[in-house]
Amino acid sequence: METAHNDTSEPPLGLFRINAGSCNGCDVELAATAAVSRFDVERLGCRYTESPGEAAIVLITGPLTARVREKALRLHGAVPEPKVTVAVGVCPVSGGVFRDSYAVAGPVDAYLPVDVNVPGCPPRPQAIVAGIAEAVLLWKARRDGVPPPTAGSLPESGGENAAPAGVRGRMRFNAAACVGCRMCAHVCAGSAIRFDEEEAGLRFTLWHNSCAFCALCAHYCRTGALAVTEEWQLAHRHEEQYRLVEQGVVPRLPCAGCGEPLLPVPPELLRVAFRETSPEIARLTALCPECRQKESIGGTRR
Ligand code: SF4
Ligand code: SF4
Repeated sequence: METAHNDTSEPPLGLFRINAGSCNGCDVELAATAAVSRFDVERLGCRYTESPGEAAIVLITGPLTARVREKALRLHGAVPEPKVTVAVGVCPVSGGVFRDSYAVAGPVDAYLPVDVNVPGCPPRPQAIVAGIAEAVLLWKARRDGVPPPTAGSLPESGGENAAPAGVRGRMRFNAAACVGCRMCAHVCAGSAIRFDEEEAGLRFTLWHNSCAFCALCAHYCRTGALAVTEEWQLAHRHEEQYRLVEQGVVPRLPCAGCGEPLLPVPPELLRVAFRETSPEIARLTALCPECRQKESIGGTRR
């Protein structure tokens, strides 16, 4: 990981935390980056400060509730330029599971510029450290009046950063196994999943900046189209936020009877529904519901 600020002749860069209505989950992970030597932010040439006037990098947690908005914005304004702002967790970026709540005034970027996002609910300390490393690069570029460097390479997920067994990371989508039932979107508290009708089929999109990695969508997906991975390293520049998505298109196929487009029925669903398939079942799944109904009362619509 490129860190850029390990010149010991320079004073450490101040990190200032703003809790904008967080549940404290992300704040506990921030404490780990200060107190656990394995994650220690001091190796990046940074140090936490309680004084906004001494800070260079702002770490903001929480969805920016209406109750704390004015105070949070005032504190952010007290940090001298050139400051860099890091959104820690999905809440400051999208509201996360608190999205659309009457008590939430965010997202944070509606009120102040955000430079780096660290998705997660909460993010792992290593991901926060990677986000701070990006912020250090941006801060130095601003101080020196040079264009921002290309995004630093993120640390590998292996080695000392290996995730313990069972860590829930980003979700993976397999369009070939999806039946388009939309149950995943229905159970997603963070409204991270959406479906769009397209000419080619049904487009699935999962926005990682709103995903809590709760894995409920995978739990309720009967066909196995969604799976949890251990990929938790998702820190990125804010301008990349809408590129960090999981996408796929479930193609519509013509009905074998009338030619109307229909979503395919993947074999996984047939196994769940019938345990065993047969040529007759396979033939019926190639028909739209209307043709199936007509066939059952005699003759396929042509
Ligand atoms: S991913 Fe699974 S739950 Fe979501 S629409 Fe596809 S089949 Fe249904
Ligand atoms: S893991 Fe699935 S259900 Fe949970 S927040 Fe992410 S997309 Fe939504």
